[in-house]
Amino acid sequence: MQETNEMPALELALLRRSLGEIAGRVEHCDGCGRALLIGERVYEFEGRGRRCALCADRERQAPADSHTVHTAAHGHSIRLLDRRPAKRAA
Ligand SMILES: [Zn+2]
Repeated sequence: MQETNEMPALELALLRRSLGEIAGRVEHCDGCGRALLIGERVYEFEGRGRRCALCADRERQAPADSHTVHTAAHGHSIRLLDRRPAKRAA
């Protein structure tokens, strides 16, 4: 981003700070270092950290756990109140 005279210094400082906070919350693959995309499946390997689907295929051991990448607002914007177990179809 190029600093211009049209954008006041305070506004620019606030923008940079918020972008830094967002970047700090983004999950990364410990294999390739790529920032993981929202909705992407991530695999946890014991002692090896997390891997994206592409890197997980190269691992010799089975993943200990997996989860879907959510936005930084997950858990803040929409809150699940109904925690009853899902009913099975008869
Ligand atoms: Zn990866």
